[in-house]
Amino acid sequence: MSDRLVIDSLDFARNAGSRHGKISLIDFTRLHDLLFDQEGELIYRISGRYDKNEKPGLYIEITGKIHLNCQRCLGKLVHHIDLQTFLILVKNEEELDLADEDDTIDAILAVPDLDVTHLIEDEVILSLSIASCHAEGECSTLKLKSAESDLTGKTQSAHPFAALAALKKTN
Ligand SMILES: [Zn+2]
Repeated sequence: MSDRLVIDSLDFARNAGSRHGKISLIDFTRLHDLLFDQEGELIYRISGRYDKNEKPGLYIEITGKIHLNCQRCLGKLVHHIDLQTFLILVKNEEELDLADEDDTIDAILAVPDLDVTHLIEDEVILSLSIASCHAEGECSTLKLKSAESDLTGKTQSAHPFAALAALKKTN
C-alpha cells in the first residue's frame, strides 16, 4: 500500500501547496471493477491555487496507463490517462449545488481531511464514463472468429466469388 496523502484542502489552496507522487492501482479499490487487472500505477500532481475569480481550488494532473476491459470483446485494453482538472473548493452543500449547475466549473466540498487518493480515484472514474473498445479489427474475439471461419468456411468462401463472377457475366 502507498502512503495515503491527506490534506486540509482550503489551507493547501491558500498556501499554494504542491505535492506529487505515485499511487499503485491496487490502492484504487473502487476502480477495480472497471479494470482488466491491477497492474501499474498513476502519477499525480496536486497544487493549490486561486482561479481568475479569486476562488481557492485544487489543480490536479494525473497520468499513467491502466488496463480496461474492452466493451466489445472483454479483452485487455490499454488505456492512457492524461487528465488535468481544476476543482474549486466550496464551503457548503448549497454552494456545491450552485457549482453543479454551472458546466464550466467543477467543485468539491472543502474539507480539512481530504483524501487525495480518493479524490484522484474519483477523477479517473469520472473520466472513464465513456465506453471504451479496441480499435476496429483489434478485438481478440474478432480475431478468433475470423480464425474459426477460416477453418469452417472453406466451402462458403467460394460463394462471394461465384456471385461476383455471375455479376460480371451479366454485365
Ligand atoms: Zn476488443
